[in-house]
Amino acid sequence: MAALAAALVGCGTPGHRPDAAPRPSPPKTSPSTTAAPTMAPGPGGRAPVFMRATGGDSATAKTVALTFDADMTADQGPRAARGERFDNPALIDTLRKLKVTSTVFMTGRWAEEYPAQAKAIGTDPLFEIANHSYSHHSFSSPCYGLPEIGPEDMLADVRRAFTAFEQAGARNVVPYFRFPGGCYDDAALRAVAPAGVTTVQWDVVSGDAFATDADAVAEQVLGQVEPGSLVVMHCTRSAAPVTEEAVRHIVPELRRRGYRLVKVSELMRQSGPAGLASDDAVTRR
Ligand SMILES: [Zn+2]
Repeated sequence: MAALAAALVGCGTPGHRPDAAPRPSPPKTSPSTTAAPTMAPGPGGRAPVFMRATGGDSATAKTVALTFDADMTADQGPRAARGERFDNPALIDTLRKLKVTSTVFMTGRWAEEYPAQAKAIGTDPLFEIANHSYSHHSFSSPCYGLPEIGPEDMLADVRRAFTAFEQAGARNVVPYFRFPGGCYDDAALRAVAPAGVTTVQWDVVSGDAFATDADAVAEQVLGQVEPGSLVVMHCTRSAAPVTEEAVRHIVPELRRRGYRLVKVSELMRQSGPAGLASDDAVTRR
């Protein structure tokens, strides 16, 4: 549990961020039927990294993307069988009631455990599903004690998650990938690039992992959000039990401040070339 707890805490920018994306290049593989902007590969064939909207229209547009990691590690099946809940239907219900367009970074293992929910989320236009690996193992170590995945298995792990989404019947899947724990390095970026994914980090850590005080989570988010921010939260009751309550505080306050809540795809689209490393860094599919 300690390792999981640590892994869920996440981290800001633990790895390397490519500083150039020299040429437009649509992904060779298309895991999605949803048109979503992607970024061109970085130098050396590395997958590009998106962290927040930093330019384009975002300088004046008050938008923020709330993202929810649906974590389940490959070896947690027995715990789920004993009744531990890695899902959070109440959170999804609240997002629907409040009409919060948002992105769920789902592990393939989660989609296998909760296929009906994966399908429901993945067929609701309010949401888009992005890839959070199949196994939720570490792609760059150390990473909060997560089990490691070998470089030779990384690409297959990413693809296995897309397959799990498809098998669950999810349709609005976008070609974005978030490393477990947010941990990556150049080798990991090169390993996942053939999947055609744009990797997605964040600039705002909600602190919802194992939090017991929803107000504190809400304050942490509200204290950090800026126009174009990308917030990481979790969609798993087991490890983030107060997230739903925090969202009920966060969303109305963000709207009161004039923010519009958007999916990562819209944030990336809005970011535009000016917000990226080169003029042709965004390709549209
Ligand atoms: Zn995670």
